[in-house]
Amino acid sequence: MSFRAIMQEAGVPPATAPIAGALQAHTPIDGSALSYVPVDNAEVIGARIAAAQEAFLVWRAVPAPVRGELIRRFARRVRRDKQALGKLISLESGKILSEGLGEVQEVIDICDFAVGLSRQLYGLTIASERPGHHLLERWHPLGPVGVITAFNFPMAVWAWNAALALVCGNTVIWKPSEKTPLCALALHRILSEVIGDFAPAHPAISQLVIGRREAGEQIADSATIPLVSATGSTAMGRALGPRVAARFGRSLLELGGNNAAIVTPSADLALSLRAIVFAAAGTAGQRCTTLRRLIVHRSLATQLKGMLRKSYASLAVGSPLERDTLVGPLIDAGAFVRMQSALAAARQAGATVIGGDRVLPPGLDGGYYVRPALVETDTQFEAMKEETFAPILYVIPYDSFEQALALQNEVRQGLSSAIFTTDMREAETFLSATGSDCGIANVNTGPSGAEIGGAFGGEKETGGGRESGSDAWKTYMRRQTQTVNYSSAMPLAQGVQFPVE
Ligand code: NAD
Repeated sequence: MSFRAIMQEAGVPPATAPIAGALQAHTPIDGSALSYVPVDNAEVIGARIAAAQEAFLVWRAVPAPVRGELIRRFARRVRRDKQALGKLISLESGKILSEGLGEVQEVIDICDFAVGLSRQLYGLTIASERPGHHLLERWHPLGPVGVITAFNFPMAVWAWNAALALVCGNTVIWKPSEKTPLCALALHRILSEVIGDFAPAHPAISQLVIGRREAGEQIADSATIPLVSATGSTAMGRALGPRVAARFGRSLLELGGNNAAIVTPSADLALSLRAIVFAAAGTAGQRCTTLRRLIVHRSLATQLKGMLRKSYASLAVGSPLERDTLVGPLIDAGAFVRMQSALAAARQAGATVIGGDRVLPPGLDGGYYVRPALVETDTQFEAMKEETFAPILYVIPYDSFEQALALQNEVRQGLSSAIFTTDMREAETFLSATGSDCGIANVNTGPSGAEIGGAFGGEKETGGGRESGSDAWKTYMRRQTQTVNYSSAMPLAQGVQFPVE
């Protein structure tokens, strides 16, 4: 199927006539230009923010289960268009088709979750100390929510936020990555159509803003937007967080990870290998939850390194649209350069580097394909403590379990982690307060590939935000504590007396 046909099928036919100042969408498959996408200027963005506020005043009063009905209809359309959207994700972000389809499934899954949630959004009743009083906690809609997303999950991350935000009674303004505008246009077009056919919904309850960093900054600075949910690099969060805080806005930050897995002597090695290779080399190492550091008990190190080298050598690298491919391209030349400089730092630190070189699949010379790299090291050197958004797996031996935990927690990021063990004492310690310091901790499954049912996010420089399942919805609402006096007396709390005639 041609690139043009993929775009057409997804409802975003290519616009090839140059437009001044526009973004140019590319495919990492061969580096070619796909389409021009006009950028929204500050004035247009300002008008969209104002429209989001106007729509909020209407949408917040629509009963939550009716808001859920909108999301149910949207999910039905996404189910119908799953193949087309999945192919577009592969085309624009470079992830293999199975993962592209998996990402669309994630959109569907979070919508299903949000539909159920729309009949919950539960508060609390609390025992009051005063006779004839009723104390309760309720959750109310917050306002327009800004959603800024990264290139590597060009549809799912927005859906995690938007599905929840909309059933919670908020409106949404989405600024996608400048590297994946077509995915945003295709998915948002479907929601806009569904909104157009759904009478209770104001047309501006969900809007898209196409732009670069400045568009994200405008959202960060707008006092009309009480919550900014931003996904991307730690550098982005470091710039955006204080801007939102300066106006007392809330931010939900989902930033970089540097995820580790520990392999203990009792691990099932065959199972571990499958989990490790997917988590480290899948998505060409471009997931926030990608496995980057493998901490292996010294007694297993030689054996596991041998297994990894063999498995890595057999990984099919090539076009993500080909059925047998397991590793697609890096997003662009910049990602390739950063990967090579991380590998140079590893060599400098005395580590052994296997793989990592450029691969040139026939006819795809403009794409940046690499053989995923294994870096065998005895120490956790400085460059390993950074997130390099590429398929590099550092393998480091450990002697004691305490040392393994210390190595795992020694980085500034705290997103995801895993342990491979059949020893319940090690597994439970890893999951305990003295174990992994990450937002996600797994046993006998890799750090990558979360389900939507749990809250997703990480600690430390990963930003501390939680989105997706569990009670993450509470971030998208404001909590109100209410006291009702249904007696004819007027007692004050804490027994305070204030007699007035
Ligand atoms: P990026 O930080 O370059 O860009 C992310 C988004 O932020 C883009 O839309 C960009 O335009 C915008 N942006 C950049 N600087 C900004 C600023 N100062 N103010 C406002 N907006 C700004 O990230 P990327 O290269 O697209 O994505 C890769 C990164 O995202 C990796 O670090 C990865 O770990 C992280 N990520 C994290 C999660 C998570 O859930 N924790 C999920 C996916 C990706």
